[in-house]
Amino acid sequence: MLYHMPTKLYYGKDIISKHKDEMILGEKALIVTGKHSAKLTGALDDVISVLNEFKIPYVHYDEIGENPTYDMVIKGKELGIKENCDFVIAIGGGSPMDAGKAISVLIANPELTPDDLFDSSKYEVSVPIITVPTTAGTGSEVTEYAVLTKPNGRKSGFKDVLIFPDVSYLDPKYMTKMSRELTLTTAVDALSHSIEGVLSKKATFMSDILAKESISLIKEYLPKVLNDLENVEYREKLALASTLAGIVIAQTGTILPHSLGYRITIHKGIRHGQATAIFLPFVLEEVKKAEPEKVKIIEDIFGSIDEFTTFLKELGIYNFKFEYKDDELDLFINEVLNSSHVKNTPGEYNYNKIKDMYNKILEM
Ligand SMILES: [Zn+2]
Repeated sequence: MLYHMPTKLYYGKDIISKHKDEMILGEKALIVTGKHSAKLTGALDDVISVLNEFKIPYVHYDEIGENPTYDMVIKGKELGIKENCDFVIAIGGGSPMDAGKAISVLIANPELTPDDLFDSSKYEVSVPIITVPTTAGTGSEVTEYAVLTKPNGRKSGFKDVLIFPDVSYLDPKYMTKMSRELTLTTAVDALSHSIEGVLSKKATFMSDILAKESISLIKEYLPKVLNDLENVEYREKLALASTLAGIVIAQTGTILPHSLGYRITIHKGIRHGQATAIFLPFVLEEVKKAEPEKVKIIEDIFGSIDEFTTFLKELGIYNFKFEYKDDELDLFINEVLNSSHVKNTPGEYNYNKIKDMYNKILEM
């Protein structure tokens, strides 16, 4: 068994100003963000004021959208190389952090294309990367994963030890500006990470300890945060739970619900965390047949799979409406069956079982 988490993680309120010298990992920074959240939360200002204080020049690339594409990371790479940036600071949710990780490898290996990122034998260096999450969900601040959307529209993750961030700053005050919807969808992403981590064939003693704590924190604090969005104390618990969940999947990988959910996000526009969590009850039922002791860990926290399902329903994550087009489901099912997530999920999965899961989410 292995436990490896090389990211230096600082967490707590005002944590950037307390550990600002750790942010100076090069001579010119490429700041990678989306359009709004880095500014709105104050995180961008905090980062820039540290860079100014240490007289470190920077370039700001703010064109990362939700579900980052090849074009977005190529533009970031080209800007970083043209401006001689030698480290990356990614601020925002999972999208800017994942894009920042891709860009940090591409800047250090100018000959590579985004496709090459999926073959980690093609690169041995990256420039240093710092992350400042402004949502609590993806856990990207503590993982060696990044998910990109390929030109064919498929979401695909790449993995390499090089893209564990060098330093991450987790400050719950940046999260108090998140809308109710974003809070919910990112928190249930974290919940999926921890539950999938428990069920994963790669679960370890260490990852289970972290996952159990993360699930319990989300169960207790997510409903509280949803009723009191600006409460920093509740936000801090949820932020910790989400980062713990990230540390879990850095060890265990994600499993079937993530693969099922990717298709719903790309083709039906349902946000990643929600698209994933809606499948959890059905996957729990299946895993229970193969490895009941794994599912018991979740049952001990929620009471039963039924009570867990009620918890999800009361959060409102099944309040969506869409239908499958002709042949669409066939495509989804075949993609899922060919994904690595299936191999990492205990139990037997065939065409009809996956089809059943896709149909059941419409009946909830
Ligand atoms: Zn996820």
